[in-house]
This record gives sequence, C-alpha cells and structure tokens, in this order.
Amino acid sequence: ALDVKELHKKFGQHEVLKGISLTARDHDVVAILGSSGSGKSTFLRCINLLETPDSGEVRVKGELIKMGQRRGAAAPIDMKQVDRIRAKLSMVFQQFNLWQHMTILENVTAAPIHVLGKDRKSATDKAEAMLAKVGVADKRHFYPSQLSGGQQQRVAIARALAMDPEVMLFDEPTSALDPELVNEVLKVMRDLAAEGRTMLVVTHEMGFAKEAANKVMFLHQGRVEDEGVPKDVMANPNSERFRQFLSGSL
Ligand code: ATP
Ligand code: MG
Repeated sequence: ALDVKELHKKFGQHEVLKGISLTARDHDVVAILGSSGSGKSTFLRCINLLETPDSGEVRVKGELIKMGQRRGAAAPIDMKQVDRIRAKLSMVFQQFNLWQHMTILENVTAAPIHVLGKDRKSATDKAEAMLAKVGVADKRHFYPSQLSGGQQQRVAIARALAMDPEVMLFDEPTSALDPELVNEVLKVMRDLAAEGRTMLVVTHEMGFAKEAANKVMFLHQGRVEDEGVPKDVMANPNSERFRQFLSGSL
C-alpha cells in the first residue's frame, strides 16, 4: 500500500533523514521506534508531504511522487497530486490538533465535506459511525476542551478514519496523555490493527510495538538501524544500539 524509497531530508546543513526506505503492504502495522531527534516525526511528515523531502520516492497505492527532480526545487511538481496523496493518508498527532472552535461532530465531518466533497448527510452518518467506533458518540455536540485527552485523541482517530485512508500515520498518539488515559487510546489502535488497517505508528509503547505491530523499524540518527518482525528483532536485536534502546539506556 505504501512504498518509500531512499528518503532524504536536510534542515540547513543537518541531514535528518539519510535515506530511509520502508514498504508497508496492505494490513501491515509498522511500529517506528527511536530516540528523540532520530527523525521519526520528520519521516512521517515527509511521507504525507507536510515536509518536502530533498530526494526519494513515496508511492501510495501505486501512485508515485518523486522528490528532488529539479535543481534547486525539491517540491513535487504537481500540487493536485499532493492533494490526492494526502487524501490517502491520515495523520494522528501527539497533540490531537482538533479545531477548538468546532464541535466534535464538525471536527470529523469537515474534511470529508470540504476535501472529499461529500454531502453533509453522508458525512454526518459516517462521522457518527466512526465516533461510535472509538466510543465517543455521546460527545458529538461537545467542544474539544470539554473532553479528556484520551477522548480528544479518540476523536482525532475518528476524524482520520472518516477519510477512509489507505494508510494511517500516528505520531506518538499517546505521549501527551495522562498515564491512566493511555490504554483507552491503545485499545482503539489495537482494534484498528486487528481489523486490518494499514498503519505506521511512531510510539514509545513497547507492548503495542511487540503485540500489535507486525513490523518494527528502529531509527537512529536518520538511518534505519534495525528492522524486522517485532517479536524476533525486539527479543534479539541485530543492532547493539537497538538493544541499548530497548533496555532503556539509549
Ligand atoms: P522526538 O522523539 O523527540 O519526537 P523525532 O525522532 O520525532 O524526535 P524529529 O522531530 O524528526 O525527531 O527531528 C529530527 C531532527 O530534526 C531533530 O534534530 C530536530 O531538531 C530537527 N528538526 C525537525 N524539524 C525541524 C525543522 N522544521 N527545522 C529544523 N530542524 C528540524
Ligand atoms: Mg517526534
């Protein structure tokens, strides 16, 4: 479903991604691990083109975007293509990023109406189904500030689901939550994994990585330092750095 080849990204002189490749087939759940500053967020942001990679390829469901084709202009050529690619990817952020002035229901229907061109009735039906799926249907007329962090993050997941994405991108979706709210969000993510959603998940939740993911990728200083099947490579890392990371000393 998603094919990333040799992604490179510099901020000034600092090369943050030094050629990252990743293939996620349909139904894959890929856990992306790494220390702070290793490039995890930048990698996700490059995939959905919130950042423009300097070079490399991103292919979503067969559609290709090549980066860095022109001298001095790393931007992909076709903005319509960027919109099409983005519509196939939904991102869930650490800080939820809900629109504070909109109700929960409006948060979930906005993009389907304005980006996908759905009519209000079908967008509302879909939104209500997705809010029910994540267990917050009763909050639909509330505003984000009236919800707990865990509830807000579940709304953000419902909002992502309402776009019917090919691939869902999660950037540390539980890191901003109080400890007692982490599990309600992880439960929703485990359900999505179990129903066969294709997901890339940047996380520090090792239990989720081991049990819910079928691939793990460990980034270190902008490179893929280790990767494999979670239960194998997390038990027996190929890389010494990954071993240190897993034991908490990196
Ligand atoms: P964390 O676990 O703390 O979220 P991360 O692995 O997600 O870390 P990134 O946010 O991808 O790391 O950042 C990787 C490096 O790129 C860091 O050194 C960061 O300072 C740098 N960086 C990220 N975004 C920018 C930017 N917009 N401009 C300049 N430098 C940036
Ligand atoms: Mg990050």
